[in-house]
Amino acid sequence: MSIIDTIELYRVRLPLVYPFGTAYGTDHAVEPVVVCLRCGDDSGWAESQPFRLPTYCPEYSAGVFRLLRDVLAPAIVGRQISSGAALQKHLAGFKGNPFAKGGLDMAWWDLHARRNGLPLWQALGGKSPVVEVGADFGIMDTIDALLERIGEALDAGFKRIKLKYAPGWDLDMVTAVREAFPRAVFHIDCNSAYTLDDIDMFRRLDRLGLAMIEQPLAHDDLVDHATLQKQLRTPICLDESITSPARARKAIEIGACGWVNIKPVRMGGHTPALEVHDLCRDAGVPCWIGGMVESGLGGLHCLAMATLANVKYPSDIFPSRRFFTDDLVVPDIELSGPSQMTTPDSPGIGRVPDPERLDRLTVEKAVLTQ
Ligand code: MG
Repeated sequence: MSIIDTIELYRVRLPLVYPFGTAYGTDHAVEPVVVCLRCGDDSGWAESQPFRLPTYCPEYSAGVFRLLRDVLAPAIVGRQISSGAALQKHLAGFKGNPFAKGGLDMAWWDLHARRNGLPLWQALGGKSPVVEVGADFGIMDTIDALLERIGEALDAGFKRIKLKYAPGWDLDMVTAVREAFPRAVFHIDCNSAYTLDDIDMFRRLDRLGLAMIEQPLAHDDLVDHATLQKQLRTPICLDESITSPARARKAIEIGACGWVNIKPVRMGGHTPALEVHDLCRDAGVPCWIGGMVESGLGGLHCLAMATLANVKYPSDIFPSRRFFTDDLVVPDIELSGPSQMTTPDSPGIGRVPDPERLDRLTVEKAVLTQ
């Protein structure tokens, strides 16, 4: 690979078509940081999408932009980067901050795949361009409204439904859902809203036949999750807690989870995410791919990762219109069948951001050259 001669960073504000409510609060817009690596006439694109505020994890959009601009991108620009591992090595001296590192890593993979004329899913070692995706529902105004939306999703053929779960939108909600749809596949995402003091509530949940309970306890915990898992039949899925291959290995070793949610950007990009995928596969722990309410740019990266063999549950990757009126990529990301999406077969992720939309939606931009 030739030298990375330019790195462009764009902090973008994308309004949501409707507010998205989780245990972390309600968001009306997302603020991804778009990263572009240029190498001669070639370019690689990705998106780092922490939340606007440090509620999901310690990183947040404006902070990621600044760290990339002031520290991480200067460590990469002007260098010849021949592999994802080489890129990670240049960033390894800087502790933590996987979302910021992930933007650079994933843009490098897109660039690498394009320069080799390969779709990203093939460059990552995927098995088939067709992946299963699920339906998700955040906290809504009423349980009746939720039941109606779930009915529509099941009628549309979605193979599983994920429900955001938080104090005040909890057992009564899941009980009503289970009664209304006794055979459907559901799981809940607690977004770290609970503690071991809630064991009675988890025991009652354990009787509702959920596919998994996602991130029930603190965002940075492993040990309490292992304690909880020993008392439940329902598998725990770790999301926020798995920020690196080392954390995944430790979680598996102590029995903290039966599933791992891989968000490549949360782990520092495709390079560490591939390591986590392989480590889980070797340990017999299945994975699926999560999302951070990305634009289609981030969604296409997740879609490529979802083609890997140990992804065994429908992933959280959504059509553009689910969240956005104007997605960053054109044309929109769409389902290719019921509960199904297909990764583009053109090189890299198969799309680049639409220049007019990127320009109009950017609130902060930086260009670094060698
Ligand atoms: Mg989650």
